[in-house]
Amino acid sequence: MKYTFMVYFCKMQRISFFIFIAIGFICCFTSCENEPSNDINAPAAFKKAPTFNEDNAFALIEKQLSFGPRVPGTNAQEQCAQFIIDEIGKSVDTVFVQRTTVTQPISNNTYKCINIVGSYNPNALYRVLILAHWDSRPWADKDDERQDEAILAADDGASGVAVMLEMANAIKNGGVELKDVGVDFLFVDVEDAGKTEWTALSYSLGTQHWVKHLHMPNYKANYGICLDMVGAVGARFPLEAISQQYAGDVQRKVWDIANRLGYSNYFVYDQAGAITDDHAVVNAETGIPTIDIINLQANNDFGSYHHTHDDDIDIINKNTLKAVGQSVLQVLYQE
Ligand SMILES: [Zn+2]
Repeated sequence: MKYTFMVYFCKMQRISFFIFIAIGFICCFTSCENEPSNDINAPAAFKKAPTFNEDNAFALIEKQLSFGPRVPGTNAQEQCAQFIIDEIGKSVDTVFVQRTTVTQPISNNTYKCINIVGSYNPNALYRVLILAHWDSRPWADKDDERQDEAILAADDGASGVAVMLEMANAIKNGGVELKDVGVDFLFVDVEDAGKTEWTALSYSLGTQHWVKHLHMPNYKANYGICLDMVGAVGARFPLEAISQQYAGDVQRKVWDIANRLGYSNYFVYDQAGAITDDHAVVNAETGIPTIDIINLQANNDFGSYHHTHDDDIDIINKNTLKAVGQSVLQVLYQE
């Protein structure tokens, strides 16, 4: 009996012990199971990113406009190229400059072309390509007057450049180190000397040159973001179709981050058509999935200032520059 009792007692103890362990396991398992599933449903917490200074970005647009229209073959082209080289050189490790002449199909027009690349953290394997064209359209073909004169291109040229330069400045001097991510800032020339009657290939001549003569052999980036017309008052950035086709995941990531930052008035989830822009060439020729952040109004058309003399400093709004610059910075720091 005694023995039996002891055995029974021991069994009870053992059963209690097992029940105790089992409850422990269930609790642990339940809690282990619950926490990640919450994490999966909730977006990752924002990592600390530096502040994008929209006043600096605005001043960088004014500086570019001070040279006059940055039309290929003019003094303004040379002056602005030197300005971009000097300015990006303050924030990145290496600057590459491509000087060449590009020829348009159909029209056979030739243009002096200066592409500039600023590479931050050149040894990082994970890389993001950020690009914008910096040339001004040689004509105001959508204006009612002075159609054969070049436009200042505050939005259609200078805005993307300014956002890139200020982003590079924030990464370098903003007090938050961007580790393990490399960024290549590509400033392409001769994007906007095309005409519809000369086919889509008459646009993006600088980018067409760069994809065939990459600044580094076998250059690759994990993805790319093209900025075009990113500074106008009332700008609206819908989901552009070529971006969606080649880089839908990237597009969704950027739009979600911008919306979580409170920029839902700008980064709308509406579908838009395909736009002939530098990202199309990068997607087709390099395999780097690249999106376009571009101002398209609800009627799927560009703003009324587009390719007119109204594309000057008066169309620029600092809140738009902030929305784009802060969102793309956050994307980089989330990697
Ligand atoms: Zn344009």
